[in-house]
This record gives sequence, C-alpha cells and structure tokens, in this order.
Amino acid sequence: MNLAEYKDVYVFAEQRDGKLQNVALELLGKARELADANNENVVAMLLGKDVKPLAQTLIAHGADKVMVVDNDLLKDYLTEPYTEAITHIIKEYKPSIMLIGATTIGRDLGPRVSARNRTGLTADATKLEISDDEAHEFRMTRPAFGGNLMATILCKNTRPQMSTVRPGVMQKLTADANRKGEVICVDVKFDTEKIARVKLVKTVKEEKTVTDISEAKVLVSGGRGVGNKEGFAKLEALAKELGGEVSSSRAMVDAGVMEQSRQVGQTGKTVRPALYMACGISGAIQHLAGMEESDLIIAINKDKYAPIFSVADLGIVGDLHKIVPMLTERLKSMQK
Ligand SMILES: Cc1cc2nc3c(=O)[nH]c(=O)nc-3n(C[C@H](O)[C@H](O)[C@H](O)COP(=O)(O)OP(=O)(O)OC[C@H]3O[C@@H](n4cnc5c(N)ncnc54)[C@H](O)[C@@H]3O)c2cc1C
Repeated sequence: MNLAEYKDVYVFAEQRDGKLQNVALELLGKARELADANNENVVAMLLGKDVKPLAQTLIAHGADKVMVVDNDLLKDYLTEPYTEAITHIIKEYKPSIMLIGATTIGRDLGPRVSARNRTGLTADATKLEISDDEAHEFRMTRPAFGGNLMATILCKNTRPQMSTVRPGVMQKLTADANRKGEVICVDVKFDTEKIARVKLVKTVKEEKTVTDISEAKVLVSGGRGVGNKEGFAKLEALAKELGGEVSSSRAMVDAGVMEQSRQVGQTGKTVRPALYMACGISGAIQHLAGMEESDLIIAINKDKYAPIFSVADLGIVGDLHKIVPMLTERLKSMQK
C-alpha cells in the first residue's frame, strides 16, 4: 500500500428517512479541523435514495465535496450494500481518514468496512487530532481498561485510518449557507448476488417514548446521593423550572431507580448541555467522560473533596435534599 496516495478526511453522512443525523454534522466539524491541519479536503459520503438535496447542508457544515451514491438498494440501511458503496469509494478515491458516527448503524458499518479493506478502526474515540510535529500523525484517543487509562491509537501501515465517534462528543460548526462545494455522483456496481442474501422484510418503528438526554439543553443529573425515586422527584421539579431533563449516574441505574436511557457516562450517553447540574454525584472518571464538555457545570455535593468539583464551574457544598427544593422555589418565585 502506497500511503502517499491516500488523502483527505471522509465522513459518513448518516441519514435516516432522508434526515441527516446530528452526529454526521458534528463529525464534519472535527473533520474540518483535521483536514485544515494537513491542507486537505473534507469529503462527505452521502448514501441513500433521493438524498442529493441534503448535500448543501453538508457543505454548509464544512464539507468541500459530497460524494452521493443514490441507489434503490441504499434506501434503507443494510450492511452489505452500504459496505460495498463505501468500499468502492475507498478503492476509487483513497481516503486517508474516515470518520463514522457510533450510532447503531455506524457501529455495524464501521467494523465491516474496516475488515473488508484490511485496515484498523478505533471505536468510540473521544479525541481526534493531527500531531503538530513533522510526522503529522493522526491520533485517535479512547478510554481503555474500564476508563482507567486513555489510549492513543495510531493506524500506521494501512488506510483509511478509521474511527467511530459517539453522538455529542464533537461539535458541529455554525452552518454557512454561502459555502460552496462540489457534489460528485458516484456510480457503484453492486454485487446483487451477495446483497440478495439478506432482505429487509419489514421495518418496525419503536414508538419514541424514550427521551434523548443528549439533545437536552439543561440536565439535572442525580447520583447515589439522591437515594431513591422520591429524591429524583425533587430533581424533576427543578428540571421542570429550568426547562430541562433529568439524567443519572450509573449507580442509580444499577440500583433500578433510573432507566438506562438516562445514564450519563462511558457506558451511558455523552452529553454536552448548556447547563449540567450534578447532584450527589461523586465524579468518577467514567461519569466525567460523558459530561465534562458541558458548557456550565454546577455540582452539589456534601463532600467538599468530591472529584466532581474539579470539573465544576460552580460548586455548592451541602445537602442536595435541602438545596435543590430551595433552588426550585426561588426559580418559581422569580417567575411570578
Ligand atoms: C467499566 C465501567 C464503566 C462505567 N460507566 C459509568 C457510566 O457510564 N456512568 C457513571 O455514572 N458511572 C459509570 N461507572 C461507575 C463509576 O465508576 C462510579 O461507580 C459511579 O459513577 C458512581 O456514581 P455516583 O457518583 O452516583 O455514586 P457515588 O460514587 O457513591 O457518589 C455519591 C456522591 O453523593 C454525595 N452525597 C451523598 N449524599 C448527599 C447529599 N445528601 N447531598 C449532596 N451530596 C450527597 C457523596 O458525597 C458522593 O460524592 C462505570 C464503572 C466502570 C468500571
């Protein structure tokens, strides 16, 4: 493999039912930074049926080029045709770096593409950078050994250098509707025999009753210090006043007090709200990994040495069971 032939940062622009997923735009923001460090282009790969109109949104968020593979076989996500389309792009255009969102689709697609192209994949990277020495290496960092160690991974001998990144970890750029880019329609010859092995019989959509905490602007989050459901009712009242949602540490999920979909952290969701209120959460590294990029962090803890205070912008030392209702009352009275 002649590594010098490989260039540019490619992003899988995941769409579902013709709607671009937020993570695709977040990855374009990071790809822009990586490409600029190497004087390269950002290329979005847009796969689907009748998806071309989405290309301008990708350009507005940082793509220089959008490669569109428009085909009936790509209407709904299936591993084989999507893998074939991306493998075709890899063979034809030789990307240096490829980023994929760690969604259910991305977690299926990424490993398959990397195996088929005999290259490496770093799953769930939390940091991506180009080294500022002469080597200009692409460094992918992710938690390892239960979050006790941050491992920086290089893909030295093969291309593309692939990574999946969870939604909410990277930041999208402000859209610039005037940005110009090139839209390239890519024609892929699919191996219909291989594709026919798996058929999509029916799509059953789960009713969306689960709140996506990674979309919330304000999170009032509770840990073991909250204790039980009655404790969380106090947090809910405060969240309601702030127009936010309640989230949780893993301790309260394991205790059966909160549902897993509201867990923040390494094995839960990564969140980046405008305000994160950590109530009765000690600040274990696995919890911090999911929330430390929040814009403003307020921590309430009765232990002034709790590690959560090291990432908090504002710390309140005291009993959350007294402080949270007081805050709620104060907010209520301010609105009168
Ligand atoms: C592989 C692995 C993955 C993990 N993934 C996650 C993850 O995704 N998310 C996660 O959260 N954890 C995760 N953990 C668990 C993590 O290590 C911690 O055990 C967990 O975060 C602790 O939760 P906590 O802060 O609620 O509880 P504790 O650590 O028990 O802290 C409770 C805090 O509440 C304070 N407190 C008690 N009473 C009050 C009160 N009345 N008022 C104010 N403060 C009070 C205490 O001072 C203490 O600081 C993971 C662990 C492993 C090994």
